[in-house]
Amino acid sequence: MPEIAFVNDVFMPLSEARVSVEDRGFQFGDGIYELLRVYAGVPFHLTEHLGRLEQSARAIGIPVPYSRDRWAAVISEAVSRSGFQEAKVYIQVTRGVAPRDHVPAGALTPTVVITVRAMAPPAAELYARGADVVTVSDSRWARCNIKSIGLLANVLAKQQARDAGAVEALFVRDGYVLEGATSNLIIIKSRCLVTPPEGPLLLSGVTRKVVLGLAQEAGVAVKEQPVAEDELYGADEIVLTGTTIEVLPIARVNGRPVGSGAPGPVARLLMARFREARG
Ligand code: PLP
Repeated sequence: MPEIAFVNDVFMPLSEARVSVEDRGFQFGDGIYELLRVYAGVPFHLTEHLGRLEQSARAIGIPVPYSRDRWAAVISEAVSRSGFQEAKVYIQVTRGVAPRDHVPAGALTPTVVITVRAMAPPAAELYARGADVVTVSDSRWARCNIKSIGLLANVLAKQQARDAGAVEALFVRDGYVLEGATSNLIIIKSRCLVTPPEGPLLLSGVTRKVVLGLAQEAGVAVKEQPVAEDELYGADEIVLTGTTIEVLPIARVNGRPVGSGAPGPVARLLMARFREARG
């Protein structure tokens, strides 16, 4: 089955998709993106992802080229052309194509790229035993709530994690841990979820919001407050949330076991609730 791309209003096999060398996404990382999951052929929380796409674009002054209905129709067609039931969909919108200059000469037409790829369910074993994470110093800019395609600091942090045999890097700034390179952080202490509050220093994760809602429905308290790095080591449990990892229990931080060193009862509850919610 084909991986599909949609580039500026044209569908094609992903292998044939091209954008200009003069595109500002390539030249400057001047663009924003979204990633969403398709379960059983249906995009998960599409409205929330499109809302965040609009917020990111607005924050950097890129006009959003499509209405919500148009996005939904194009994504639906791309998914059905691919034939994939389990898929990941990237949407990328850049400021457009122009001769290289930091400030473009005039108004540009944004470049729109959508890709659809097959997505295997996450490896069950990792969820059964829990994952390793490391902490890294947060060298990103101060507008991390914008889902920018400029991901160099995230790429380097993720490589640092992989080199240490871990699956994720947690960003620490001024003694507080904010989020992972591709995930949000929730610690669990005395059966209460504690997660850093939304703001400019972290991405407002769609999965984070879903999981906080599921916890509340299950009668588990939720606090949105800053998390000091030390609190990682005193947590009973830790989970990460994200579109690709869903709810991932953490077994060790920098080699030190979290709680019992295996996924705990709240993590297992949240994983089960999330599986039910995604269908
Ligand atoms: N934080 C960062 C930096 C991310 O890149 C991501 C996802 O890619 C997340 C958090 C999780 O967000 P979501 O649940 O919307 O996928």
